[in-house]
Amino acid sequence: MTNHLFSLIRSRIPAPDKVFIETPQGRTLTYADLVEGTGRYANALVALGVAPGDRVAVQVEKSVSAILLYLACVRAGAVFLPLNTAYTIAELDYFIGDAEPTVVVCDPAKREGIAAIAGKAGVKAVETLDPAGNGSLANKAATHSPSFDDAGRAADDLAAILYTSGTTGRSKGAMLTHDNLASNARTLVDYWRFTASDVLLHALPIYHTHGLFTATNTLLMAGGSMLFVSKFDADTVMKLLPRATAMMGVPTFYTRLLQHPGLTPDATKHMRLFVSGSAPLLAETHRDWRARTGHAILERYGMTETNMNTSNPYDGDRVAGTVGFPLPGVALRIADPESGHVLPQGEIGVIEVKGPNVFKGYWRMPEKTAAEFRADGFFITGDLGRIDERGYVHIVGRGKDLIITGGFNVYPKEIEGEIDAVDGVVESAVVGVPHPDFGEGVTAVVVRKPGATVDERTILSALEGRLAKFKQPKRVIFVDDLPRNTMGKVQKNVLRDLHKDLYAR
Ligand code: AMP
Repeated sequence: MTNHLFSLIRSRIPAPDKVFIETPQGRTLTYADLVEGTGRYANALVALGVAPGDRVAVQVEKSVSAILLYLACVRAGAVFLPLNTAYTIAELDYFIGDAEPTVVVCDPAKREGIAAIAGKAGVKAVETLDPAGNGSLANKAATHSPSFDDAGRAADDLAAILYTSGTTGRSKGAMLTHDNLASNARTLVDYWRFTASDVLLHALPIYHTHGLFTATNTLLMAGGSMLFVSKFDADTVMKLLPRATAMMGVPTFYTRLLQHPGLTPDATKHMRLFVSGSAPLLAETHRDWRARTGHAILERYGMTETNMNTSNPYDGDRVAGTVGFPLPGVALRIADPESGHVLPQGEIGVIEVKGPNVFKGYWRMPEKTAAEFRADGFFITGDLGRIDERGYVHIVGRGKDLIITGGFNVYPKEIEGEIDAVDGVVESAVVGVPHPDFGEGVTAVVVRKPGATVDERTILSALEGRLAKFKQPKRVIFVDDLPRNTMGKVQKNVLRDLHKDLYAR
């Protein structure tokens, strides 16, 4: 049996000496280096006891070596499990306990803390990898042979588990197969016209589906090159744009670049494609970008569980405020959220999708998985949308209260749980309100116990160390009572409305 995903990647390598990754720090990795490096890491993982199907949890800073580690897991038949670098030890305790990885790879600074929680989850080894590509795992890999026999993996075998935030406070591990990733990458190569001549400017994090799969896998399937920036920074991106042909970003990238004086048609004349996704791109940003550069940003829609579902067209109208058409091979429909009946064109309902891109289910959560699929195999995304008369999909809202801040999902329930545990707090409601920089700013509305002196600072410092930075509220507001409807439910729409100008510039 071949290794479904890696065999495809390997078959599309244009030439061994072709550059795969280049960093602004001057590191260059060719495709031959990619094959050798992943071979060494795969051998190191096997020597640590990793067998096909085992999970390898990875919480490391973005680096070229982290990409090698991802692909080494694929080659070894392991299930790659990336974790947001902002997660605290308290949060990692849940992920490691739930996923029971064989090996955990982390930043050297986190090693001690993780080792303390890893034992009870049956982890065999905790290894390190730092941003420069040094660490105990890198040292081990260096002693191993670059040749490695790829583990046989079928299309339906797991390649990765990516945790999404959970509405009930419990995160769910989305199980993605080799073919979920391979099929979506191949579709995007064709749809977005990627070739080996492309140079993708990569400034996204790689613990999330956008930077890891949408960007990296698509580029690999095209046999192109990446300019690999460890963290988005407008100056660095502006410097590299003249050498790139394409960029994939979250809306924040575009709003920040629009503030840069260097953004001109000349600075972007070498580019053929700007893609945006992970959160709604304001129609205004789309317009401003076109006016400043002459390029129409191509907006697309996807999620961790489904990879990419829709895209504006490569040729033809890229319509601001829409996410375009279902991708080839993806069936998309709008249904009544309660009954599941498919709605007539133009009506608003929940977006449901089916196709080779859709994940296999949530790790060790069969009931949750069953509840989110219809009997005919369509996945209920939880996003609300409609399809217009030209067939463009519009996203009109999100399942309830999900907050998207700087491209990251924050589920209020988890934050509310932490705030409610603070001394002197009766209850809280966390909402997202418009924020000029992050799209939405996490905002907490809190009711104090009579006589309690708890203030904004007390709450924010109680959350430090409990929650990743991006989940921590930007502001805490105190009220006497939360607004409720007749059924006793907190009316978050009222709160969002009340505080909609909180972050206005
Ligand atoms: P994630 O799983 O982190 O990729 O988040 C997926 C969610 O992001 C989707 O369910 C949508 O709610 C939202 N999303 C992704 N792309 C877009 C987009 N282009 N416009 C609006 N929302 C989007």
